[in-house]
Amino acid sequence: MELTCITCPKGCTLTIELKEGKILSIQGNGCPRGIQYAENEILHPVRMVTSTIQVIHGIHDRCPVMTSKPVAKEKIFEVMKEIHSLKVEAPVFVRDVFIHDVAQSGADLIATRSVQLESSFSNEKK
Ligand code: SF4
Repeated sequence: MELTCITCPKGCTLTIELKEGKILSIQGNGCPRGIQYAENEILHPVRMVTSTIQVIHGIHDRCPVMTSKPVAKEKIFEVMKEIHSLKVEAPVFVRDVFIHDVAQSGADLIATRSVQLESSFSNEKK
């Protein structure tokens, strides 16, 4: 199989020989980090999850969120399910933690921007 290493902009094409789920060889890597990347992608793939959640009484209807660290690919569906069921009250502050250990992934779900209360925003404008 082939993978493109995304660890640096060079984007080496890695050719990986597998047998019964085990890695026999990795070729095409321009540096040792390519080996680590391929091993992680095949044996334990992880991704950062980003999305938005609903905000009630805020100046914006939605707040962008992300996981505090990459989560196992097989957990992403469960993480998204929890994100989609979440509604929070404004105000929201950047780095607020909405869910600890979201979907038992080991990562927290955090706000990546602040959302002011609608009423405090309209008072400021007066
Ligand atoms: S293998 Fe090394 S040189 Fe090639 S893309 Fe990955 S990090 Fe960059």
